[in-house]
Order: sequence, then C-alpha cells, then structure tokens
Amino acid sequence: MNINLRLTGKQHKQLKSHLFPGDNKEAVAIALCGRSDGKRFHCLLVRKIILVPYHLCQVRKTDQIKWSTQIIIPVIEEAAKKKMAILKIHSHPGGFSDFSIADDKSDRDLFSSIYGWMDDELPHASVIMLTDGYMFGRCVDANGNFIPLSVITVAGENIHRWYNNHASKELPEFTSRHKQIFGKGTIEILRNLTFAVVGCSGIGSPVIEQLVRLGVGRLVIIDPDHVEEKNLNRILNTTMKDALNKSLKTEVTARAIREMGLGTEIITLPTSLFNREAVKAVAECDIVFGCMDSIDGRHLLNRIATFYSIPYIDIGVKLEADGSGGIDHISGAVHYLQPDGSSLLSRKVYTMEQVRSAGLKRIDPDSYRDLLESKYIIGVNEDRPAVISVNMFFASKALIELLSRLHPYRDDNNDNFAVYRYSLTGEYSHVESDGEACPVLSRHVGRGDVTPLLEMPELS
Ligand SMILES: [Zn+2]
Repeated sequence: MNINLRLTGKQHKQLKSHLFPGDNKEAVAIALCGRSDGKRFHCLLVRKIILVPYHLCQVRKTDQIKWSTQIIIPVIEEAAKKKMAILKIHSHPGGFSDFSIADDKSDRDLFSSIYGWMDDELPHASVIMLTDGYMFGRCVDANGNFIPLSVITVAGENIHRWYNNHASKELPEFTSRHKQIFGKGTIEILRNLTFAVVGCSGIGSPVIEQLVRLGVGRLVIIDPDHVEEKNLNRILNTTMKDALNKSLKTEVTARAIREMGLGTEIITLPTSLFNREAVKAVAECDIVFGCMDSIDGRHLLNRIATFYSIPYIDIGVKLEADGSGGIDHISGAVHYLQPDGSSLLSRKVYTMEQVRSAGLKRIDPDSYRDLLESKYIIGVNEDRPAVISVNMFFASKALIELLSRLHPYRDDNNDNFAVYRYSLTGEYSHVESDGEACPVLSRHVGRGDVTPLLEMPELS
C-alpha cells in the first residue's frame, strides 16, 4: 500500500519558518493528521501543527536535535481517540538529504511509544524538510520498519509534488511541443497526476479535452446525465446518434479519450457527486475541476477539497438574455481555491440560502416547488443559455490557471490571481487575490475520512 502526505501551502509556510529560524540549527514540529483511506493509497492530511519550542530542545545543532517528547502526549491522546496520524517533521539545515542513523534511532523510539498508545496499526510518519522547502519522508510501521512516502503534495498558491525515487521516464512524442515551454519536469508531473472533472457537459468537455492533450495520467469523470440533442451545440465528441441512443455523457467522453490513444487512464462515474463512491473517488484525486451549474454541487466539491486538502479549480459562466432578442450580460469566472483559503461561499459566488434551496430541489422536488410558489425560497436557474465559444474561452482560462500553479510563470505571486473574471459584454478582465480563509469551510482542513462522510448524513 502506498502512503502519501498532503499539506496546504499555509501549513508548509508555517513549518518552514519554524524549522529554519536562521540560526542554522535543526528544529522540530509535530502534526496531527487526518486520514484518507482510498483504493490506491492511504493518505495522511495535515490538520493541526504543533511547533516544538526551541527552548524545549535539550540539544539543537546543525546535524542533531533532542527534544522533550512531553509536549506530544496530548497530541497522541487526540490521535488515538480520533484514529488520526502523528507526523514528525524536522529540518536538516546542513542539507543532508536522507535520514541519519540518529534519525533512525529517534524515529524507532518515538513511533514505538506512539503505537503503544494506539489500538490500531494505522501508519504514522516522519518527514525531513530541507532549506528550499523540499520534503521527503517515511512511514514508520508498528514493527519499526521504514516505508518511504510515495508522494508529498503541497496544495498552496503553487502546487508542489515531491516523489520518492521518481524514475524519469521517456515522455511520449505528442507532448514535445508543450514540453518545449513548460519543461520535462512539469510534463512528468502531469503524467503522474490524477484529476477529477465533475460535470462532463459544456465546460467539462473542453476541460477534459485539454487535460488529455496535455498528457495527464489519470482522469476521474463524473456526470449522471445522458446526451440530449440540446447538448450537441457544445459537448465535444457527441453526435446525434449519442442523443438518439441516450448515451451517458461520461461514456461518450471516455470513448473519445480511448480513441485519442494518448495513454490517459479514465475512470467514469455516471452518478451525481452526492454519492459516497463519487466523493471517495474525488478524495483520491490530486487536483479537481468543478464544471457544474448546480450551486449545491459546487459547494460539495469545495467541501471535499477542504476535507481532503486538494486544490480546486472552479469555472462558472453566466449568459443572460433580455428576453426580446438582446443580450443583457455575458461573463464568467475561474476560481483557484486552496483548502485553507477563501471559498466559493466566502467569495460570495452563492449564499448558504441558495445552497439549501438547490439541495431541496434535488432531494425533495415537491416541497421545493411548494416553497418556490409561496416565495419562501429563491429559485434555482434552469436551462440557461449556453454557447460553445463562451464555454471554451473559460475552459481554456481554467487550464492556463492549472499550468500556472504547477509551473509558476507570472510576474507576480499566484496568490494575487485567485479569481479571474471576464466580462464579454464589457470586454474587461478583473483579478482578485485569495483573501481571508473561509470561516465556514476552512475549519475542516485535513480532516479526511470522518463518520458520516464529510459530516453529511446524506452520504452515509
Ligand atoms: Zn535528521
């Protein structure tokens, strides 16, 4: 079983400033981690960081640290109670890029006492950070064996992926032209990433097309609907025959990807996101794209990305006709969302009232209609106008956003570009920075698997 680690950009920054205070001596921190127990790997998700104060270290040298483990006891108690993981993180200011013999001994001592507190043998881990922020680590099992962490991901303003023994493979010829600008490293990262695309319609299909042609390794696509004739104006690769056969959007998309033959593994889930299997499948993805109209769906995806520390790119398009042949408004936005940053909710893309109203429409359409008629709730927009050219414009911007996060190229920090808005009626663009953490969602960062799933009884 592969064991991975995920943390947010803010957590990484907090650790880095504690572990490298500028005195060239080792420092140490502990993190309490949530868990994501998936089909392909077990992932530790940093939830709470406890910095071990420098004065509680008996020895601090360039290549050695000894600290009082008293500070960790309440953390172990909490981990044991909630089946969470303990992560030890220390620095090597001298740059030694491996665990030392002293590290082996101290890890075996520490983790054997941790396992003594637990009534399970779920993994815990030890990680080393170097001066440039690079991290590598290992799980220490109940028998004192060391198993390298397969990959460490930082979901921050930029996305970092650090692999254990990542053997460089020959890249396929079809990637050569984008490799010329983004480099072999970035293309290799794309080949090793799993993406979820939720919604395979007007926006999802051009997002998927681009991901596959950029050479991504694995795609999980989710959409419950089948192709209808009214979709043929905008869903790539769909045909009149698909509409007549009522083919599933996920199947039509998967067929096209297989025919492209570019090596992308494809997993289809012809279901709503409000489904346990779909949530767990998304939780295992490295980056998620939200290509949905539904407000409750977007809110759920933002929630999954927070619980499981995943970067989330959301695309929303708004076309409003004036009802008499004219156009009121055409605009759209691409949001880059970090697990502990602002959310679609705190960015006021929608309100909780709208989320509840959309949820009611989905779960109990009769009550929804009654409340709508008596004007107790705001209605959910249905069958809005949709134009392929507008969709592709914003889908393209979303993929450019992804590339900028994997391979930063902007003149300014990426945090200043959390929201990109474009009005086609006004012909102007506008960017916004990430801002304050969402008070509703960010408290769930790194919780991982909980019961009920995501604290939503509906998913149990
Ligand atoms: Zn060390």
